[in-house]
Amino acid sequence: MNMRNAPAIVILGAGSLATAQRIQQLYPESMIHGLRGRVEGVDCLYDAFGQTLRELYQQDTPIIALCAAGIVIRSLASLLSDKDVEPPVLVVAEDGSAVVPLLGGLGGVNVMAREIGAALGVAAAITTSGELRFGTCLLNPPAGYALADLEQGKRFVSDLLAGESVRIEGEAPWLADVQLPADAAAQRTIHVGCEARPASRDELLIHARSVLVAVDAHLPELARGVTAALHEANIAQASLACLLASEQQMAEPALHQAAQALGVALRFAPQADSLVAMAGQAVPQARLSEAAGVVIARASVPLEVAQVGRGRGRLAVIGLGPGAAELMVPAVKAELARAEDVLGYETYVRMAGPFRPDQTLHNTDNREEMQRARHAFELAAQGRSVVVVSSGDPGVFAMAAAVLEALHESTDPAWHRVDLEILPGVSASLATAAQAGAPLGHDFCVMSLSDNLKPWSIIETRLDLAAQADLVLAFYNPISKARPWQLGRALEIVRQHRQPATPVVLGRDIGRPGQTLKVVTLGELQAEMVDMRTMVLVGSSTTCVFPREAGGTWVYTPRWYPAAD
Ligand code: SAH
Repeated sequence: MNMRNAPAIVILGAGSLATAQRIQQLYPESMIHGLRGRVEGVDCLYDAFGQTLRELYQQDTPIIALCAAGIVIRSLASLLSDKDVEPPVLVVAEDGSAVVPLLGGLGGVNVMAREIGAALGVAAAITTSGELRFGTCLLNPPAGYALADLEQGKRFVSDLLAGESVRIEGEAPWLADVQLPADAAAQRTIHVGCEARPASRDELLIHARSVLVAVDAHLPELARGVTAALHEANIAQASLACLLASEQQMAEPALHQAAQALGVALRFAPQADSLVAMAGQAVPQARLSEAAGVVIARASVPLEVAQVGRGRGRLAVIGLGPGAAELMVPAVKAELARAEDVLGYETYVRMAGPFRPDQTLHNTDNREEMQRARHAFELAAQGRSVVVVSSGDPGVFAMAAAVLEALHESTDPAWHRVDLEILPGVSASLATAAQAGAPLGHDFCVMSLSDNLKPWSIIETRLDLAAQADLVLAFYNPISKARPWQLGRALEIVRQHRQPATPVVLGRDIGRPGQTLKVVTLGELQAEMVDMRTMVLVGSSTTCVFPREAGGTWVYTPRWYPAAD
């Protein structure tokens, strides 16, 4: 697909932050990456410069590095063998006085260099000869167009540089202001069109992505059918801009697999009497033809895919982990970057930031879970990309169950067609246990002590049985202003089955600023040591403690259990 990742702006220190922020305004989806300990107020922090650059490069992320060119070249040197597939890499002087495109000529690095140069008021250091002569990279047509054959194209540009003249066949609006050696009688041609044919020796063949194929999900071997239909209609595969299907088939896996296999977007339109009618309504000016059970719609200009019908909405319920950015799983970070709407309790939404100006934040009170879940579906059913935020793991006393309950209750087919995904996070009990050692190393029981959503009597029963079963106990929601006595009562029950010397771990604000970790005994434990931001882990009969070299205590529960006599 002709979609680029948003650029990464990489800085080494606070001295380049101002320039980085000016560049960020140019690319609102970009992120500023700053070296940990050297700079604050950036979108993400990294520890190792070279490794960060290599990772970004390998993920095909355009890189704008605010540092010396040499550092960047040395960092990427080991990866530079394949010139056809590389993201743009630029260096910009810290003070914004120089912009140097380094790599990614075919990925549009010179276009970016000019954009950044214009924003900073300096000339970009363009060194590519074709680009210098013509003011554009002929091998890198703009979005909506695709070069048919790169090797052929390179030869073609060399010919032009050697003095050949050229004429344009078809519509190439982006070449209107380019100083090409034009001549109506020239042998060399730049041909823009969508026919399937090999480029001839003397032409630069560019395909316009102006074709849509309307399909039915039930057609067997969909991707192959589309390819066959295009072939039959003599249309180049590269001219395919998107697939179109009926909104009722939005969740059909066959459609998504086909679009992915073909590398194009999948759009949806209201159900119509026929595929022809559906395609005709979605792209009114197109020429329509039927082939091999699909309908081909051919427009005269590249299709604005985002304007064709609508996309499938997505709803992701994500877990942020306990708080620290390092403990957030990468899939969650990626989901936050693609979100158009973010819903959640204000504290968690803030924790999930920073967000871009184009992302809409819906902060709601923590108690309105079902309402928030329904609101999320309403937005996603309109085709938006929605994220519902929980702390820790979304499936542990958090939003995932509420979202599924809302869906289960709903008879709205549009809700059931939403692309729903739950993305896990590190739950508070696991984050706390890791800091203490391995208190959850053997069987354990997870409970919420809140009686807001369940009767207190069931909590007492479960506590009694779990304590009797000698399970390690992990208490979420141990206490709050509205529930002052419950923890004390819970501990009375546990003490009926456990020794006073039993280790207890108290983790407060784990993974957040000001975190504390305490190890006490069940005998010492008092409700006053605990608040609603605390995780309580009560050991079993086998849980052990021993001092750490660096101070403090290790807590663990061995994997084994003594045999019954
Ligand atoms: N979904 C969350 C839990 C929500 S219930 C998760 O998986 O972690 C809220 C309770 O979780 C709090 O009352 C507290 O007991 C615990 N908790 C959440 N974050 C915590 C943290 N950073 N440190 C300690 N306890 C935490």
